[in-house]
Amino acid sequence: MFNCETVRADFPILNRQIHSQPLVYFDNAATSQKPKAVIQAISDYYTGYNSNIHRGVHTLSGEATDAYEGARGRIGRWFGTEDLGEIILLRGATEALNLVAASLAHNLRSGDVILVGTTEHHANIVPWQQLETSIGIKIVPIPVDSRGTLSLDKARELTRNNRVKVIAIGHVSNAIGAVNDAAGFVSLAREINAFSVIDGAQAAPHMRVNCALLGADFYVLSAHKCCGPTGIGVLIGRRALLDELPPWQGGGDMIDRVSFSGTTYNELPWKFEAGTPNIAGTIGFAAALDYLEKIDFDGAIAHENRVHRHLIKAMKSRKSVELLGNPENWVSVCSFNIKGAHPNDVGTLLDQLGFAVRTGHHCAMPTMEHFNLPGTCRASLAFYNSIDEVDAFIEGLDRVAGMLAG
Ligand code: PMP
Repeated sequence: MFNCETVRADFPILNRQIHSQPLVYFDNAATSQKPKAVIQAISDYYTGYNSNIHRGVHTLSGEATDAYEGARGRIGRWFGTEDLGEIILLRGATEALNLVAASLAHNLRSGDVILVGTTEHHANIVPWQQLETSIGIKIVPIPVDSRGTLSLDKARELTRNNRVKVIAIGHVSNAIGAVNDAAGFVSLAREINAFSVIDGAQAAPHMRVNCALLGADFYVLSAHKCCGPTGIGVLIGRRALLDELPPWQGGGDMIDRVSFSGTTYNELPWKFEAGTPNIAGTIGFAAALDYLEKIDFDGAIAHENRVHRHLIKAMKSRKSVELLGNPENWVSVCSFNIKGAHPNDVGTLLDQLGFAVRTGHHCAMPTMEHFNLPGTCRASLAFYNSIDEVDAFIEGLDRVAGMLAG
C-alpha cells in the first residue's frame, strides 16, 4: 500500500530548506528527485565493482556486465518488452529521438511528410527539422485542441496527403500535462503504413506504459524523470525495424568485426550502443524501477493524481490565475500565469518562499506560440508531493499575486 509520508523519508533532498523555508519541489517534469536506493546502487557500483563491461574476462568486468545487462532486463520487464534486443540504452530521450530521426532518414525522400505534434518538446521537433534541411522532407504540425490535447481527427485529415511517412507525438506534453491518445496515433500510423514515434519522457513517470500493448514502432523515455539518474534514456523499437536500420554512431561495442577491408556490425541491441555506456546510470535506473515497484507504483499514481486534482481545483478558483490547457486526461503538470505578471517574477518570488517551479517556454516554444504566451510558470508533481504541500503552495501563490498586484 502506497504511503506518501513513508515514501518521502526515502528522498533525502526533501528535507532541505530553501531560504529558510522547507523545500516544496514542484519541478518534477524537469527532473524527479532520487530515492536513497538509487543513490546507494550507484555508490555500490563505484565502490564495489566499477569496471568496463562486455569484453573483460576478470571478475569485476563480469559483475559490471551482469549488472548492466540485468538492468536492461529490468527495464524490459517494466515496459512490457520481452525481447531485450529491442531495448537500446542511450543518453536520454533526446538522444533516442535523434537516433530515430537520423536512422529513419535512410527510408525518407525529399517531399515526404512527417506529422509532428504542435505541443512537442523541442527534442521531438528539431531532429525532424534537421531532416528538412538535409533531405527536404516536410514537417506538418498536428493541431492541438483548445484544451491542449493533440487532435487525432485533424491528424487523420492530414494523412490524406499520401506522403505522410512518420507520425511523431508526445504521449504526455511537458508544458501542459495533456495525455495524448498514443494508441490512436499508433494505429493511425499503421493504417497508412507510416512509422509511429512516441515520446514517452513525460508519460513513463506517471502511468504504466506497456510497449508491447501499445505497439509503437519507436517509444522513447528518460530515466531521470522516473527517479533514476541523469544521462540515461531508452529507445524501445520493434526488432524488425531496428534490424533493418543502419547503425547510428560508430565505435566500440557496436561492431562484430572491424577491418580496413570492411566492418560488420553487432547484433541488437548493441548495434546502436557505440562506446562505453552509462553503466552506473543504467544500474541506477534499474534500482529506481525496483523502488517504484516496492512502493506500490499503482498506489503512487493514484495518490499523485489526487494531489494533482486538488491543485488544479484550487488554481481554477483563483481569479488572478490563468491556466494553460484544461485537458480531459491530465497528469502532473499545472502550467499557469498570474494575470499581468511575468512568469520569471512569479517563479523568483515563489523560490523565496521555498517553492521550486520552472518558468519559461519549457523547451516547447511552438506551444507557447500557439497559445500566444511568452511563457508560463509550471508546477509539476510527483508521487512524493502531498496535499499539504499543495495547500502551502496555494497560500504562497496568493501572497505572491498580492505582492505583484501591489
Ligand atoms: N521529451 C519530453 C516530453 C521532455 O519533457 C523531455 C525532458 N524535458 C525530453 C523529451 C528530453 O529528455 P532528456 O532530458 O532525457 O533528453
